[in-house]
Amino acid sequence: ASPPAQEALRVIGRLREAGYFAVLAGGCVRDALLGRIPKDFDVATEATPDSVREVFGKRNTLAFGASFGVIGVLPPKAKKGVADQLPSSPDIADSPENAKDKLLPTEVATFRADGNYSDGRRPDSVTYGNAEADALRRDFTINGMFYDPVSAKVLDYVGGLDDLQSKQLRTIGEASRRFDEDKLRMLRAVRFMVTLQLTMEADTMSAIQEHADSLSVVSGERIGAEMRRVMVQTDAPRGLELLVEIGLADQVWPVLKEATWTRLKAAFEKMPTRSFEIAMATTLLVVHSSHAQAVKDLTQLTKRWKLSVAEQRAIASALTHAPSILSCEAIPWSELQPILIDRDIEAIMGTAVSLAETEHANGLSRAREDLQLEPAKLNPPPLLTGTDLIQAGYSSGPHFRLWLMQLRQLQLDGEIRDRDDAFKWVQSQPEV
Ligand code: ATP
Ligand code: MG
Repeated sequence: ASPPAQEALRVIGRLREAGYFAVLAGGCVRDALLGRIPKDFDVATEATPDSVREVFGKRNTLAFGASFGVIGVLPPKAKKGVADQLPSSPDIADSPENAKDKLLPTEVATFRADGNYSDGRRPDSVTYGNAEADALRRDFTINGMFYDPVSAKVLDYVGGLDDLQSKQLRTIGEASRRFDEDKLRMLRAVRFMVTLQLTMEADTMSAIQEHADSLSVVSGERIGAEMRRVMVQTDAPRGLELLVEIGLADQVWPVLKEATWTRLKAAFEKMPTRSFEIAMATTLLVVHSSHAQAVKDLTQLTKRWKLSVAEQRAIASALTHAPSILSCEAIPWSELQPILIDRDIEAIMGTAVSLAETEHANGLSRAREDLQLEPAKLNPPPLLTGTDLIQAGYSSGPHFRLWLMQLRQLQLDGEIRDRDDAFKWVQSQPEV
């Protein structure tokens, strides 16, 4: 078992020793049965949050969602080995590989039954209950199973195993009531359909159609979080099409109603890497009839989904430059070069590849070849800088920027090759 799985099993073992029934719950059971690597391992137990804290000691726990009965149990501190005592440079200690190995707290949730829902997102109250009650409050049958590592048995009170076998997404209990309680479940349904390649059971589907408009009570940020996970799947276009079919598109991404699905599916099949930015740029360029419309939509989604500055920037660069790459046989080096040295070149190229008619589109070939250039050729240092101009006796001003830009263009296009010629060109400029 992986370190986080082992840690969850350790937590279950300790609770069992203390006399409390405890099991793995929900998504990790589903993923393990599907042969997928679970994102995290959640524990469910009959022990109350206070008892959980007592078993592990207060200092080793975090009162995560104490009001929902969730306690975080910290992994035991690693015993200091010789390697840990050697002085290590800070950049090694902080490297991402190291951070990845750090175990997160294991979430231990007390079995509970949810009370009424009145805000369309969260129960007004929770009461502690048994495993079966806890299964019944979960959203979909495939998410409602437990695994007991002591007996090595799956506890399935909701028919999850059958649905997993037939790859069906079905709510636990009456679909209409379950979506009425928590509207986010509608979008989770679409996400699970796409990430796990499921079909949707008929009542579940018609209940979403019935409640689709009420997705408006869910925050744009939560919608964005689900959409991020949908967009990085090869099957994302199927998920987007589903949003339209079940009536969620108006609440999530209205322009999807105008999409040509065959085109979008073809583009996603050509996509070289699964990246949110590339998927977004590709979709925006396929579904909008003009670049300006695509940019406007991106601005709205950035605000609603709370995209990060880096995400927004990469998507915007791809929107603007991917089309130039595709037609780049026709553009001068001074126009292509700034694109090739853009910090978001990966998103730009990924989007261009997705949108190209053929893998050997001429624009792509040229861009790929040029990207192989040695650094001094791909991005030669400028012949002159502002400092050079000042030292040569020119008085600085806004015209400097214009001169340097024009010079850069002439340099890249091979019309000016050295500093002398560059100075001659500056002298030839009209007085300012
Ligand atoms: P993943 O971790 O891959 O996103 P997951 O199924 O583990 O998938 P989580 O959001 O981690 O999803 O939730 C853990 C479990 O809690 C789910 O499997 C499900 O049983 C339950 N759950 C989560 N969100 C809801 C909800 N909105 N309504 C009812 N039950 C939910
Ligand atoms: Mg999970």
